[in-house]
This record gives sequence, C-alpha cells and structure tokens, in this order.
Amino acid sequence: MEPALAAGGWTCVGWPVEFGGRGLSLAQQVIFHEEYAKANAPGRVNHLGEELLGPTLIELGTDEQRARFLPKIVAVEELWCQGYSEPGAGSDLAAVSTRARLVDGRWVINGQKIWTSLAQQADWCFVVARTEEGSARHHGLSYLLVPMDQPGVEVRPIIQLTGTSEFNEVFFDDAETAADLVVGEVGGGWAVAMATLGYERGVSTLAQQIAFRRELDAVIAAARASGTIDDPVVRDGIAEAQVGLEVIRLHALRTLGGEQGYNASVTKLLWAQWRRSLGELAMAAAGPLALTVSEAPYELDELQTLFLFSRADTIYGGSDEIQRNVIAERLLGLPREARP
Ligand SMILES: Cc1cc2nc3c(=O)[nH]c(=O)nc-3n(C[C@H](O)[C@H](O)[C@H](O)COP(=O)(O)OP(=O)(O)OC[C@H]3O[C@@H](n4cnc5c(N)ncnc54)[C@H](O)[C@@H]3O)c2cc1C
Repeated sequence: MEPALAAGGWTCVGWPVEFGGRGLSLAQQVIFHEEYAKANAPGRVNHLGEELLGPTLIELGTDEQRARFLPKIVAVEELWCQGYSEPGAGSDLAAVSTRARLVDGRWVINGQKIWTSLAQQADWCFVVARTEEGSARHHGLSYLLVPMDQPGVEVRPIIQLTGTSEFNEVFFDDAETAADLVVGEVGGGWAVAMATLGYERGVSTLAQQIAFRRELDAVIAAARASGTIDDPVVRDGIAEAQVGLEVIRLHALRTLGGEQGYNASVTKLLWAQWRRSLGELAMAAAGPLALTVSEAPYELDELQTLFLFSRADTIYGGSDEIQRNVIAERLLGLPREARP
C-alpha cells in the first residue's frame, strides 16, 4: 500500500518540495488526510518516520542526516520507531536511564525501552539516551538514530488485550550507532525530543474525525442489527457520541494551525475520552453478541477490537492525567504540581 502511495508522490505531502514532499498548505493537507480516511485506507506503517522524525530532521538535523534519511522515509524504504518510554520513564520522560557512550568513534548503547510501537518492523529507532555520566533529569540526554538490525538490539513483542502485538520491549545490549547520528547537540536531546512531540498531533488529527465518524456509524449499524437501537440507554449514548464528535471536530478546526500548546492537550483529552466511551457504547450496541467470537481462529471483530484498543487511547501520546496537568498549569494558571 505505502510503496504505491510513495510512487504516486502521496507520502510526506506536507514536507517542503526540496525534501521530497509536496509542500501542501495546511488546508490542502487536511483535505488529503480526510479523503484518505474517507476511502477507508489503512493506517500508515511509517507514520513515525513521516510525522515525527522527518519534520524533526528538517528542523534540527544536519544536511547529511537529511540527505541520508529523508528520501528513504518519502519512498517508504526505511521504517522508524520511537524509543522514548522505559519501564521507569513514561509520563516522566526525564527519568530516562538508557545510556550511550562514545567508544572509538561510535555510540555504544545499553538499556531498555518499552511500548515501542512497530519496533518489530522498524529499520531505525530514534532513541533518547543519557550520554553524560552522572547527569540527571532533562540534562545530559541525547537524541540518537540507531539501526535496529544489529546483534545488540533485541525486540520482544508484547501481546495485548486484542491478541495482537503492535508494540514491543526493545533491549539495547552494546548496540551501536555512528558518532554523527546524533540530532542536535550532544547533551541537548531533551529539546529535540520535545520538538518531535510537538509534531505528534499535526493535521492528521483532523482526518481522525473521519475515521471516528466511520466507527460511530458501525456502532449505529450494530445497534440496528442487534435491536439495541430501541434501548433508550443505547440511543442516549449514540446521541451523546454524535454531539461529542461534533465538539471534537469544531475544536480541532478552530485550533488547527494556531499555537498548539494547551490546545493540543484539550484536543487529545476530548478525543481519547470520546473514543473510550465509544468502545463501551459499541459493546452495549452489539448486545450479547459482543461477548462472543464467531468461529476459529476466533478473531475479534471490529467493534470488539475497538473496545479493547480504545483503552489505550487515554494513555499514549500523554495520558489524560498529564493532559489535565498541562491544561491546569498552562491554561488555567493553577500552581505547578511538585516535581521530583
Ligand atoms: C498504544 C501505545 C503506543 C505507544 N507507543 C509508544 C512508542 O512508540 N514509543 C514510546 O516511546 N512510547 C510509546 N508508548 C508509551 C506511552 O508514551 C506511555 O505509556 C505513556 O507516556 C505513559 O507512561 P507509562 O505507561 O510509563 O505510565 P506512567 O507514567 O507510569 O503512568 C501511570 C499512571 O500514573 C499517572 N501519572 C503519571 N504521572 C502523573 C502526574 N504527574 N500527575 C498525575 N498522574 C500521573 C498516569 O496518567 C497513569 O495513569 C505507547 C503507549 C501506548 C499505550
């Protein structure tokens, strides 16, 4: 699928033309992503390269790094994953303890990442690692580009509630990368890592609304099929979901292109809560059938998968509690919570 998109010049459409994109305006990008979602086209396997790493390299990478990596992202020839979270560093990313040190002109990396989406398919990982011995918190971190296909990298898939394994544990055991594959300053990785996160909720969030609309339509269809459409509680849930979706859409449209800051947190909070409730509504709408799987190999249907996967929506990309902290501190001006 994605090589076909690449062949037609339909990957990285928002990137400047000089880096292989189409240089589309924000409005044009929204149209592209909406049409993509309307066509029921599949999720993109290299969205971490296209939406996170690529823009970071365009903003903060060296000419050599851009020339080396961007064309392969545009062509979907190299896939990327994001090596931020660790068992002891999730919401509190500054607690990263994976270490890297320069030995004979190469970075040698040791430590563990977790919840690394698509690591089993990825060719490269952008890794936040501690490169200054004895440093603490957001000081002394560096942003390294690490090849996945090497003896020092082990990927262990995590089996999820859905029975699938989109994410993984990644172990670095004397893994290596070249000395010049650090983005930004050595020791200045925190700023680079934050720049990457700033790209996380770009224009594709608007296209998400279309996908959500489709999911809601599937829930309504299930309610009709099972007869639960006559249940006042289910009807009320559907009405609430319709209104909620419209609120999300209007909020995203109103804030797109402007300063994201806390707006991104409001958007994330709105849609994550909405989708988790939709998962619950889906189970009510499907009625008793929601509790069964039809026949071997007993795969979950679309609504069962929606219900189970939507539990993750309020966690990744910053949990609900973290979004509320951001809104409380930056929008409402409430006192900052105590930092470790
Ligand atoms: C589907 C999915 C995909 C992911 N993909 C990736 C990936 O590709 N790469 C990657 O690096 N990571 C990835 N993650 C990890 C994700 O970024 C973390 O799960 C997330 O940041 C939360 O961290 P944690 O799991 O360590 O939970 P913790 O930070 O331990 O949080 C546990 C609970 O405590 C709450 N909490 C924590 N701190 C505070 C606070 N200060 N105030 C109030 N409450 C607080 C949280 O909200 C949560 O409810 C993914 C996660 C999911 C679910």
